Amino acid sequence: MQTAVVTGGAGFVPSHLIDRLLGEGLRVVALDNFITGHRRNIAHLEGNPAFSFIEADVSEPFEVEGPVDYIFHMASPASPIDYVKVPLETLKAGSYATHNGLELAAEKKARFLLASTSEIYGDPEVHPQAEGYFGNVSTTGPRSCYDEAKRYAEAAVMAHHRARGVETRIVRIFNTYGPRMRLDDGRVVPAFIGQALRGEPLTVFGDGSQTRSFCYVTDLVDGIWRLMQSDCADPVNIGNPHEMTIREFAEAIAQATGTQTGIEPRPLPKDDPKVRQPDITRAKTVLGWEPVVPFDAGIKETISYFSEVVRGGAVSKS
Ligand code: UDP
Repeated sequence: MQTAVVTGGAGFVPSHLIDRLLGEGLRVVALDNFITGHRRNIAHLEGNPAFSFIEADVSEPFEVEGPVDYIFHMASPASPIDYVKVPLETLKAGSYATHNGLELAAEKKARFLLASTSEIYGDPEVHPQAEGYFGNVSTTGPRSCYDEAKRYAEAAVMAHHRARGVETRIVRIFNTYGPRMRLDDGRVVPAFIGQALRGEPLTVFGDGSQTRSFCYVTDLVDGIWRLMQSDCADPVNIGNPHEMTIREFAEAIAQATGTQTGIEPRPLPKDDPKVRQPDITRAKTVLGWEPVVPFDAGIKETISYFSEVVRGGAVSKS
């Protein structure tokens, strides 16, 4: 039985990754300090003999007993309102925690995967974004604690790979949505769905002409697992190229929830990227991966999850 370590295991994306890894027959050790993750995301795994959990801040040195085959370094605040609230912890998650995970990988001779981000492209001047684009990132703006931490993390991964022969993978994750996102994490998907379900107007930032491309979480997890099993040490974009403006997204949420609560314009946050769409040629070629969940189906699942949350019902479905 192979063992995978997942840092940030109580987070939205990592909790779905853990479900997939357990489904693939792996043993999973998850670590989290609950700075942005939540126990309810892994509550359904309690009692599963293949799953264990360690409450720990992986920015501090940590140990895992026994053999380890894979390390998925997923721990980091990832929502703009979160990382602006905890910028120092965000910097440490990209730097100290990445080194700690890479040390563990070297010690255990395990393969290490970094959860990187489309934010390393910043406010892109190239569209869509392919992995060869170096990005347009402010080193001092409000997003810099996250963007630069992840850029540093990629550099750390490549340094350990080149200098020490650690087997490494880098996934650049684009906007992802699905059940287990936090209703209050400030990102546009839970924000709009929560507002629609509560009968409130949708808070569109700026004129809503900025674009994003939303990937359903099970598609992302499939790409991550394929990448971990591949022999590709270069960064790989995983995301859904289906691009829309935030205004179009607001209309889609109004339609899917059957609500017409209107729009409440809000100022555009500083350094908010104007466009974002992944070029997934590399993922298609190297991993044979592309997203398969249509937007309408993914949004329906997500709305049904948030409906339960808003009604105060059960919030953790597997
Ligand atoms: N956004 C919005 N209203 C909200 C939250 C976000 O219009 O209540 C916009 C935000 O300005 C950005 C896009 O939606 O252009 C996606 O924001 P999110 O925080 O989900 O993630 P980002 O892609 O910026 O990291």
